[in-house]
Amino acid sequence: MDFLKSEIAVDFRKTAADGAGDAEGRSIDMTGWATDDVIQPFMIDATGLHGRYVRLGPQLDAILSRHAMDDASARLLGEFLALAVGLASALKYDGIFTLQVKGDGPVPIMVADVSNDGDMRGYAQIKGAVPSAAAAAGAPVPKLLGAGYLAFTVDFSTSSERYQGIVSLDGATLSDVIDHYFEQSAQFAASAHLACNRDAEGHWRAGALIVQHLPPEGGGGGVALGADDWNRAVTLMKSATEAEMLDPALDPGALLYRLYNEDGVRVFQPKPVRDRCRCSDERMLGALAAISEDEVRSILNDGKVEMTCEFCNTHRSFSFEQIFGRAVGDGMAEE
Ligand SMILES: [Zn+2]
Repeated sequence: MDFLKSEIAVDFRKTAADGAGDAEGRSIDMTGWATDDVIQPFMIDATGLHGRYVRLGPQLDAILSRHAMDDASARLLGEFLALAVGLASALKYDGIFTLQVKGDGPVPIMVADVSNDGDMRGYAQIKGAVPSAAAAAGAPVPKLLGAGYLAFTVDFSTSSERYQGIVSLDGATLSDVIDHYFEQSAQFAASAHLACNRDAEGHWRAGALIVQHLPPEGGGGGVALGADDWNRAVTLMKSATEAEMLDPALDPGALLYRLYNEDGVRVFQPKPVRDRCRCSDERMLGALAAISEDEVRSILNDGKVEMTCEFCNTHRSFSFEQIFGRAVGDGMAEE
């Protein structure tokens, strides 16, 4: 399967140096840098490999706490959000990055999307009996999602073009699935390491470490790299424990130094991530106006259509008149 047939090449290259990183390797003043709910880009000096560490705290907790969800599903959705933020930040785009899963397990749908401004949202649809977090640990993909696929999409705000990738849900964990996707990619290599759990106070935290390699062919700042160098970078990344990745007292730079200090590691200005849904009255009215009047009539309840945003759980209700600009009875005679 070739997942990367696309009209446009999304640039995985010009990303890590987005921030205020010092190309000369001089020390950077990191005072004032946010350390939580951030994307922390980094570069490994010895190899020139780029990566990012996504660290989610209170903003993630707000998203997961908004839905009544079992711990196993919340934990997987937290990893899913961290992964979406990490992949989105590896892309140079102006628009919306969406990661979604469709499976045949008790959690058949999971969606996360991230804007280029760092607004993130996500939800899981839960339909069956979900195993406990302990029973799902180690193999959440087959136990919760089942068989199916994971897809990611970039919708560019500047054009109608789309970039899409898709991979089947082969693997025990989300990082297995995404690693499998990148193993098949000819354009670049990437690997992810994910964690999500509650802290001592019961608040959700998540982390995603991602390293990526762009071959030098085709320019754009890629680096030549031996397999040993790549394997070493991935092995060091995967040696980060869940406790390290979720520890609010351990600064992102300190964790990266712990992992990569022998090879030299450089961090760049972090980017904040926010819990912010893009739903609005206007968008919901637009969606309703796009379906037939008959259909809207059939779902009227007390003269209103009730709608709940799946992402942020906001309830809204609209009258027929608000949707179509006239009373519900008008125009019925012709039908
Ligand atoms: Zn919403």
